[in-house]
Amino acid sequence: MKKAYEQLQTYLERAQAFQTARVLFEWDNETLAPKAAGPNTSKVVGTLSSEYFSVITDPEVKRLAEECKEEALTETEKAIVRELTEEIEKLERVPAKEYREFSELTSESARIWAEARKNKDFESFAPTLRKLVEYTKKFASYRAGEGQKLYDVLLDDYEKGFDMKALDQFFGTLKDQLVPFLKRLTESGGTVDDSFLAGDYSEKDQEAVGRFFAEYVGFDFDRGVMAVSAHPFTTNLHNKDVRITTSYNDHVDDSLFSVIHESGHAIYEMGIPDELTQTLVGTGASMGMHESQSRFFENIIGRNRAFWVPVYEKLKSRFPGQLGEVSLDRFVKAINKVEPSLIRTQADELTYSLHVLIRYEIEKMLIEEDLDVEELPRIWADKYEEYLGVRPRDVAEGVLQDIHWSQGSFGYFPSYALGSAFGAQLYAYMRKKMDFEGLLESGRIGEIREFLRENIHKYGKLKTSRQFLKDVTGEDFNPRYYVDYLTDKYGKLYGL
Ligand code: ZN
Repeated sequence: MKKAYEQLQTYLERAQAFQTARVLFEWDNETLAPKAAGPNTSKVVGTLSSEYFSVITDPEVKRLAEECKEEALTETEKAIVRELTEEIEKLERVPAKEYREFSELTSESARIWAEARKNKDFESFAPTLRKLVEYTKKFASYRAGEGQKLYDVLLDDYEKGFDMKALDQFFGTLKDQLVPFLKRLTESGGTVDDSFLAGDYSEKDQEAVGRFFAEYVGFDFDRGVMAVSAHPFTTNLHNKDVRITTSYNDHVDDSLFSVIHESGHAIYEMGIPDELTQTLVGTGASMGMHESQSRFFENIIGRNRAFWVPVYEKLKSRFPGQLGEVSLDRFVKAINKVEPSLIRTQADELTYSLHVLIRYEIEKMLIEEDLDVEELPRIWADKYEEYLGVRPRDVAEGVLQDIHWSQGSFGYFPSYALGSAFGAQLYAYMRKKMDFEGLLESGRIGEIREFLRENIHKYGKLKTSRQFLKDVTGEDFNPRYYVDYLTDKYGKLYGL
C-alpha cells in the first residue's frame, strides 16, 4: 500500500545516519578531541554534510516524496513528508556553487571573529561580516515567497508563525513595559549581596552538585552524559543518547544553572517517543520551544524559592565554608540578583530579553534597511545605553560578543526571548491546574515534568510553537504573561 513511503525510508535512514555522525563529531570536537584534531575532523564533517545534502537532494527522493502524497499515510508519516519537502526546497533553491562558497566562508569566519574579539578589533571582522550579510540576503531572496520580506524568511527558519509583524508587537511590549520597570528597580537602590556565590568552589564539588541537580530535575544518566566544554550546550543524537556540557569557574551559580538549563533541553529530547526519534520530526519543535523548556527549568523552576526548600541543605552541606551562614532567603535573593550588564549570556532573568531586543532591532536594520556593518559598534553601544543604561568599553564586550553572526545565523536571536515568553505562558496555565509551588516544595518535580512531557515533549516536531500554546493553554501566544511574570516576581523580590 505504502510503496513509495517505504522506499523513502531507506533514503531517510541514510540521511539520518550521516547527520548523527556529523553531530557526534561536532560534540567530540568541543569536548574530548585533542586540539590538533580540528582541521582533519573538519574535512570529515564537511564530507558527512555533503553526503547528507546529496541524499536529500537526490531526484529519486523528490519523486518518492511527491508520490507518497497519494498514499494513505498516518498523521506522523504526513508530517515527515512535509518536513522532507521543506528541507528539499530549502536546499534546492540555493545554487550548489554558491552554497559551497558560503560553506567555505563560514568555515573561516568563526575563526576570524574569534581573533577579532580577542584583539578587540572590529575592523578585521567587518569585511567578513559584510559578506555574510550579503550571502544571507541573497539566499533569503532565492527562498522568499511572493512579496515576502527577507528577514521574515530567516525568522521563519527558526520560529514558524513569527514574522516581523508578530515580533514588533512582542518586542514592543517588552520595550514599553520592561525598560521603565528596570529603571524603577535599579533606581530603588536595593542592593543584593551575592558575594558568597563566588570564591573557592572546587571543580570536583561543582561537578558533583551539577550531577545531583541534573538528576534531580529529571536528566536520565542511563540515556545521557555530561561533559566539560568552553560554552555549555546540548547535543542530541536520539532519545537514548542526549549529551550536555558545562564549564566551571569560581562562580558556583554559573555552572549550577547552566546544568539545569541544559538539562531542560535534554529532558525535552529524552521525552521524544521511540516512534518519532531518528525521524525528521523526532526532535524539539523549534528553537523557541526548546528555549521555553530549558529556561523553564533554569528560571521558573530553578530560581524559584519553592524549588530550593527541599534541597538547599544538600547544597549547603557540600559547601559549608561558603554557604554555611547563608539563609535560604538570602540565597534565593542572590540567585535572582538583577544587574544590567553588557554580556547576554551572563544576564539575569529580567534583563535577558532586553539583550535580545537589541539584537532583533539591529538584525532588522542589517537585513531590511541596508545598514552598513561599519555602523554596528556605535549603534550597539547606543542601544545598550538606552535600554540597559550601560555602555560597552570595547567591541569585545559589545558587538563582537556573540558567535551567531559569524556562523551566518541571522534570525536566531529572537527565539531566545520568545522561548522565555512561551515558558511564562505555560507557567501561568500550569499554576491554575496544579499546586506548582507546592509540588516543588515537596520535591515532586516529576509531576511538573510529566505535564510537559505529556503536553509538549511527546509530540516532537508534529506541531509548531503557536499550536502548542493554543492546544495546551487554550490561548494564542500572548506576551502579557511574560511581562506579568517578570514584573510580579521581581517587584516582590525588590519590594517595588
Ligand atoms: Zn539553551
